[in-house]
Amino acid sequence: MDGKIVLPHKHGENEEKVIASLPDAESCSQVAEAFKLISDGTRLRIVWLLCHCEECVGNVAAAMEMTDQAVSHHLRLLKKSGLIVSRRDGKEIYYKLADTRQAALVHLVIEEMLEVVCPLD
Ligand SMILES: [Zn+2]
Repeated sequence: MDGKIVLPHKHGENEEKVIASLPDAESCSQVAEAFKLISDGTRLRIVWLLCHCEECVGNVAAAMEMTDQAVSHHLRLLKKSGLIVSRRDGKEIYYKLADTRQAALVHLVIEEMLEVVCPLD
């Protein structure tokens, strides 16, 4: 880990510069965990929904045509990752996208990859 990495072969102009900037394994693992979490069609749909409205479990479940229990499981994982946040109002808990750069990027990536227009634009 310490010291400068020296490549055994020289092929390109920018190799040294690129190697010097190579993200560390720990940071990449964290990003990989985030990708793992959204590498699920249902969770992508839930995240996309919560990018645009704050919703309770019942409404998310209705939109996904799933049970509250199944949706709760996905919401728990997404919340644990910090991608979404929740707030309690009386008996109801409402979920929405977290106000972070990472969450905003996920919002953008979903729409770019699906080629859907953001309904809030
Ligand atoms: Zn959008």
